[in-house]
Amino acid sequence: MFSEQCIITRFCCPFPDCIKEYQGRFNLRRHVEMNHMGKIFHKCRICSKSFSSRQVLREHSFRHSGQKPYYCSSCGKRFRQYSHLAYHRKMHKFGVLNLDDTDEVKSNQGSI
Ligand SMILES: [Zn+2]
Ligand SMILES: [Zn+2]
Ligand SMILES: [Zn+2]
Repeated sequence: MFSEQCIITRFCCPFPDCIKEYQGRFNLRRHVEMNHMGKIFHKCRICSKSFSSRQVLREHSFRHSGQKPYYCSSCGKRFRQYSHLAYHRKMHKFGVLNLDDTDEVKSNQGSI
């Protein structure tokens, strides 16, 4: 992980695109936490929850804003999470969903 240029007293950042070096292990650790971990753990600015991917954080943030960016092109029902839409579309495909299902409409209005 560490290249040969790194002498024992110097600590090189182990991330491949980063050339930062630090004299102390703690300084390096702080650097890694501040500059790299933030990219790995996507933190919600509103509730400070961490997420493993940007996509998951994006979908989580819709929870705060109340946005439902995904919608079914067949029936117009809106979804906050892509996985919910994917599941919903699968239901269409297998003919499980009845487009006249009033429960669908009810639950849709309830969340507004
Ligand atoms: Zn670095
Ligand atoms: Zn949040
Ligand atoms: Zn639909």
